[in-house]
Amino acid sequence: MTSATAPADSSHPSHRELGRDHDLFMISPEVGRGLVTWTPRGARLRHALEEFWRAAHHAHGYEVVMTPHLGRAGLWGESRQLDFHRETMFPEFDVEGSSYVAKGANCPLHMQVFRTRTRGHRELPVRLAEISTLYRQTPAGALKGLRYARTVSQDDSHIFCRPEDVVPETARYFDLMRRMLRAFGFEDLRPYLGTRDERSVPGDDTWRRATDQLVQGLREAGLDYREAPGGATYYAPRVGVDVVDRWGTSWPLPDLQVDYHLPRMCGVEYTGADGRRAVPAVLHRTLLGSVERFVAALLEHHGVAGLPDWLKPVHLSVLPVREGDESAARALADALRLDGARVAVDDRRLPLGARSGRAREEGVPLVVAVGPDEARTGGYRVRDRAGRRTPVSYGELSAMVRRLGRAPDPALGAPRPGGPVRTDAATSAA
Ligand SMILES: [Zn+2]
Repeated sequence: MTSATAPADSSHPSHRELGRDHDLFMISPEVGRGLVTWTPRGARLRHALEEFWRAAHHAHGYEVVMTPHLGRAGLWGESRQLDFHRETMFPEFDVEGSSYVAKGANCPLHMQVFRTRTRGHRELPVRLAEISTLYRQTPAGALKGLRYARTVSQDDSHIFCRPEDVVPETARYFDLMRRMLRAFGFEDLRPYLGTRDERSVPGDDTWRRATDQLVQGLREAGLDYREAPGGATYYAPRVGVDVVDRWGTSWPLPDLQVDYHLPRMCGVEYTGADGRRAVPAVLHRTLLGSVERFVAALLEHHGVAGLPDWLKPVHLSVLPVREGDESAARALADALRLDGARVAVDDRRLPLGARSGRAREEGVPLVVAVGPDEARTGGYRVRDRAGRRTPVSYGELSAMVRRLGRAPDPALGAPRPGGPVRTDAATSAA
């Protein structure tokens, strides 16, 4: 974890205020300190984000896996996580005479997936990825909304590769990182190289090699960086990236580690070209950091109204004009939901103008009022953000709303190997 600067300008609402005012998530003493609960609107945002993440990772050569949130303590003991991170892990508990933990890292689980069968050198690199919640007992005084929570839904990946492929894999990661962060509207990225300290596992040659490879990967990607002595993990040097939002707040999000130690400790092997058993390098990497922290950064950077449309929880607000119009409004919303649209009915006892204004404040792109005329004719007048009113049929309305939910192209504008280079990159955040 890196230290992060305080907001340079505090005139914008914090993600905690936005989360409360727009009903996106809650962190309550009843559930437990630092444990994040996503309410329906926030869960919609998170689903949209995660679906895009999975599509982009498939497109870029990753295989998505799913692993349990707890397991036998020995698994994390083997990788020495229990020695180095015990103070941030929830206490062990007994199940049928065996000691279990809530996971604080995915590494040993992805190594188990790799080890489900014998792997040959031609199969590498194997890139396993998942978004999975880790549980960390961050001290109460350090908790800070979604930024420092005890549920950390890391977008984690482990890339198993031959040692000679570490540099190209590193450069490939930086390329995907930049493309993906740009799709979310982040351009100001500040990498740092975290190097070894006296607590790290021994191995001068492997530490030097891994550090050199990270530096070479940064150079190949054309990224400037600063040095952060002692900023490595106990097993590997790392490149962390501070993402700076429009207010000057720095968010520690992407993280890449080149590791020659855990695969050896965990018995991870492949068959080399010479038929001998060999130990792969493992790149541990997150790109968003954690979904919680990334959503906090997104909210503070864009505000709720300024979020990219495809991430918005609601694309159309349906307003019954007066009492008695609710069932027609709900019927329209139900039909649009069957088409896959993100729709909400606002039937609060408030004047139509007030409900319409609230939708605008929340950045809901489209509003439609439903009264007796609409119910009778099936024609609607949809109002957009600019205040324009357009007459539309049901089919046109449905297409308009669904278009707003379309995520960026998962290829993210990457050139196609051996094929045509795409220039119509749909990676804008708008
Ligand atoms: Zn890992």
